[in-house]
Amino acid sequence: MPHKCEAIVVHCMDYRLQSFINQWLEANLAKGSYDRAVMAGGVYDIYDVIRQVDIAARLHGISKVVLINHEDCGMYGMSGTEERHEEDLSKAEEKIKRLFSHLEVDTYYLNLDGMFEHK
Ligand SMILES: [Zn+2]
Repeated sequence: MPHKCEAIVVHCMDYRLQSFINQWLEANLAKGSYDRAVMAGGVYDIYDVIRQVDIAARLHGISKVVLINHEDCGMYGMSGTEERHEEDLSKAEEKIKRLFSHLEVDTYYLNLDGMFEHK
């Protein structure tokens, strides 16, 4: 039976952020209308991200991709400056838009105190 949802949300596995992300999703996306891809490092490995986006697009007809990277991410270690995250998010956005031109892409940087910055 075909079934659809609005978006796929990609974010890091880091336990410190899960309750912030849950609250943010409740407030910003239609309840239950998203696939969720939890990957160490968020967009750190873009090919893993693209694979999940492709599946969500084929199986659930998503129209939107939400990418969330965060402060003090263990996958980035010392190289994880806010600038680096911003750069990786924008590269990921570009690649996804090139492959899936019908998808809207939103990128966010999540601070450890729970504040989301739209990038
Ligand atoms: Zn992380």
